[in-house]
Amino acid sequence: MVDYHARVRINRTDAKYQNEKLNLAIDVNNLSGQQIAGIRFSMRAFDVFGEIIPVEGEESHVFSIRCAPFEPAMRIVLNYSCDIGNIPIQIDITYEEVHYSDGTVEKKERPHKKLYYYQELEPDHWRDQEGFQLLRKNFHHAICYAEKRNDGWLCTCGRLNRNRDDVCPECLEGRKKVLTAGTREAVKKQAKSERDELVRNKPHGFFFRRG
Ligand SMILES: [Zn+2]
Repeated sequence: MVDYHARVRINRTDAKYQNEKLNLAIDVNNLSGQQIAGIRFSMRAFDVFGEIIPVEGEESHVFSIRCAPFEPAMRIVLNYSCDIGNIPIQIDITYEEVHYSDGTVEKKERPHKKLYYYQELEPDHWRDQEGFQLLRKNFHHAICYAEKRNDGWLCTCGRLNRNRDDVCPECLEGRKKVLTAGTREAVKKQAKSERDELVRNKPHGFFFRRG
């Protein structure tokens, strides 16, 4: 599932309750393509019965966290501590605004989610070892072959991007490079040319029979 409108992705949130304080560790990715200086979040906490537990006296608690330059395509964990009256059983947290280092602010847009599939390559699968290693040579975080699809382009990092995205916000690879060097066909071709090169450079008389 990919949300084309997300500028920040919350991967997970760890919460620890201690002395009526809730300590959060919010694991986020920067998908904006820009350097982020701060993020505004909102959260709601629920008890066992699904009732809202106020956080800092608010039903929906809004707070901002400064991120020391949070670079594009990077992942960080942000810590936040707040007052809460009871032990929550569920916490819903979303981002509301992204504050960029250049001073601009972007509000969260309604999600535009899309479900998609890809075949993940396994590093130690014997059948496509060669392809996988070649792919990794060009794309450090590659987990699958790139594909041009009707609704966009699948990056080697596994993210489906829109046709108008020139750069993958997940790994910052450019579409052009991904679609020329990262497809199954391109990798196959590269493997073949590397094998041919090996044969060509093999010194003559390398194999000889002992008489
Ligand atoms: Zn990517």
